[in-house]
Amino acid sequence: MVRKQDIKILTELLDLKDVKVISHRIHDGIGMILQTKSKKAYSTCPRCGTKSHRLHQNHRYIVKDLPFGEKPVFLEINRRQFKCDECKKPFSEKLDFVSQKRTYTKRLADKIIQDVIENDIHSVADKGIVTTEEIERMLKDASEELSDFKPDFIKRLGIDEIALVKGKGNYCAVLIDLDTSKLITLLSGRTQEVVKKTLIEWGTEVLEQIEEVSIDLWVGYKNVVTELMPNAQVVADRFHVMTQINQELDRQRKQEKRNLEELVKKAQSSSEKAEHEKVLAGLKNSKYVRVT
Ligand SMILES: [Zn+2]
Repeated sequence: MVRKQDIKILTELLDLKDVKVISHRIHDGIGMILQTKSKKAYSTCPRCGTKSHRLHQNHRYIVKDLPFGEKPVFLEINRRQFKCDECKKPFSEKLDFVSQKRTYTKRLADKIIQDVIENDIHSVADKGIVTTEEIERMLKDASEELSDFKPDFIKRLGIDEIALVKGKGNYCAVLIDLDTSKLITLLSGRTQEVVKKTLIEWGTEVLEQIEEVSIDLWVGYKNVVTELMPNAQVVADRFHVMTQINQELDRQRKQEKRNLEELVKKAQSSSEKAEHEKVLAGLKNSKYVRVT
């Protein structure tokens, strides 16, 4: 028996407009499943706009939602079919919080995309909430939904890339408002042309307001910024800079090791014992090569 009070609290926690929780259960190793119901007894026909109360069929299925603490949350939803009195045809109701043919809520997709921008697809998928396929679907949907969006004002812009899973070297560029950490748009590719085309669509008024652009060290993006955003200062993306610095340090270490090895070889072929010892002494003081 489900207590009324529990249902009221769960509905409030769920916080989805026009939706109430009607039961809940917890499965070990799976998570919490909330059975939900629409508060509205009707739906509007997408063809003619007539409200219909005539229920034709129930269509119940489970979607993923934002986790509750560490616990995954699933919603059992009912996307009802109504019959329109005008058209005489059945139609599926539109639900604000979950798109048709999707296995997750819109707000979960928003959260995952934000996580992917801050991390990467694999580390987000490793959390076990959504699969890499679902993440790619979310990114594709977001890129389609945001494709016509033009910001009014941006002060600090971030241009980053997301590596997609399928196919090697498959990347897409993302444009981020760095002051709000929100995704502005997600492009279908990452080439200079793709990025440039989108930025041009924003218009010079928006572009001239941009004061700072954070990009990775790929020169292509820098050229676009210099060309289109006259007032922007280019800042190298900190994560990429660290990667490059580490690579450079590695390269230097390897080079130093090679130099020392050459010195050892030379010393060994030399008949002068003193010089040999001198080199060995020098090696012992080196941080990078251990001489035994
Ligand atoms: Zn109709």
